[in-house]
Amino acid sequence: MSIEFKLPEAIEKQVRGVQIVAENAMRPDSRRLDDNEHERPTRYVAMMLPQMQEMERANINAAKARAAAKQQTALAQKTNGHGGVAVMDAPPAEAPKQSTANLLLVSIIEMLSWGDAGIYLCIPGGGLGGAAIQAVGTAEQVERFLTRYTHGGPKWGAMAMTEPQAGSDTGNIQTTATFDAATNEWVLNGQKIFCTSGKLALEESDGLVVVWATVDKKAGRSGMKPFVVEAGTPGVIIAKVEEKLGIRASDTAAIIFDNARIPADNVLGDAEVKTGEATKGFKGAMKTFDTTRPIVAASAIGIGRAALEFTRDMLAKEGVRMEYGKPRWKLTSVQADLLDMEAQLRAAWLLTLKATALLDAREENKLESSMAKAKAGRAVSLVTQKAVELLGPLGYSTEFLVEKWMRDAKINDIYEGTGQINTLIVAREILGYTRNELK
Ligand SMILES: Cc1cc2nc3c(=O)[nH]c(=O)nc-3n(C[C@H](O)[C@H](O)[C@H](O)COP(=O)(O)OP(=O)(O)OC[C@H]3O[C@@H](n4cnc5c(N)ncnc54)[C@H](O)[C@@H]3O)c2cc1C
Repeated sequence: MSIEFKLPEAIEKQVRGVQIVAENAMRPDSRRLDDNEHERPTRYVAMMLPQMQEMERANINAAKARAAAKQQTALAQKTNGHGGVAVMDAPPAEAPKQSTANLLLVSIIEMLSWGDAGIYLCIPGGGLGGAAIQAVGTAEQVERFLTRYTHGGPKWGAMAMTEPQAGSDTGNIQTTATFDAATNEWVLNGQKIFCTSGKLALEESDGLVVVWATVDKKAGRSGMKPFVVEAGTPGVIIAKVEEKLGIRASDTAAIIFDNARIPADNVLGDAEVKTGEATKGFKGAMKTFDTTRPIVAASAIGIGRAALEFTRDMLAKEGVRMEYGKPRWKLTSVQADLLDMEAQLRAAWLLTLKATALLDAREENKLESSMAKAKAGRAVSLVTQKAVELLGPLGYSTEFLVEKWMRDAKINDIYEGTGQINTLIVAREILGYTRNELK
């Protein structure tokens, strides 16, 4: 079997198109949007909207086909008398075995983040909320909630899991969802923090947020369910918009739910609590992280590449060139540093490609996606700090973007599971420990 590391020409072509957006609608606005944290990147949003709407249409069709196939499998199992239920991530019989959709996605996101990681995050579409709906929603829910992203003006989606006392410890969520049989509604109460695109989704567009709440605090993870809360729901309050170290163009909101009422069928997956076991809904939504962690890794690599290329070009003007194929002792310390930076990013990119290729082949990638995310989050922090170090005052000055890239980098080691949490997942997967055996 031959191994091919070159991106397919069709993907390279699309990435070159994205580079035009990065160079013209992102880089020129980078500094201004970093200085004015809550201003919106309207030029970028307008340029990305048609492409994102097309992508959302394809996502909906694929999710509907998967959901229909799942229903068919469940029906077949029932009629065969096995009594089993289709496994969440079982590949539908008619699904194509290999696609390059995720490879295209990570390649585009790497390039957008090379343009500007904070601006990239303002991309219109279902976002993390859309990913959760696609992962665990029924075909009807996918259509009902995600069709809005295929037409009209820009709209955003978000996912709110983190609370003041529940970040890495997702099992400690305190937001409650109580069923009101009289009105056939769920009533949500609680507080979410650090919700990416939360304000864009709820206040600035006709979007939605997938909110994690517990229907039974005593039941732990099995009591936790994802609920779709749409813009305009009474009792949903944007309490605060964060001011941050980096990715300052990205909207990060704190949201309060004060007796927020949503329809009964806005719960994703199974509403039943099966004590002692995480529900399929919970497991399914956790599995969305297997698809989104390579995306975060790609974003990290994009920032790192921006910093490396800028540093390399600035040093080249001073006569310091990257040299390949020489033993390390024949290199200057700065040349060795540049090669190390490149190697860090290359290693992270190869891990990301592996995690993504497995995803495209519809194979399990939990280990690889956490490996890629942990490595890329750390690599981009090291690379951008080294860039500032090598460039000295030029790296530290706001005249250039290197200091900004260093600030933007760190988030990749925090959200979608911190570096430590992803390393823990890698260790569990390799050593065969459960969540309870290795904390
Ligand atoms: C800009 C930004 C955007 C975000 N967007 C979203 C979003 O859209 N939706 C959302 O739900 N959340 C979002 N988050 C929240 C993010 O996912 C959490 O901050 C992250 O999961 C860490 O949780 P925490 O902040 O509670 O930190 P903690 O869990 O309190 O962690 C603090 C430190 O302890 C370490 N630690 C914790 N547990 C362990 C352990 N078992 N072993 C070893 N070390 C451990 C962590 O690695 C970290 O270094 C965002 C955060 C930021 C900053």
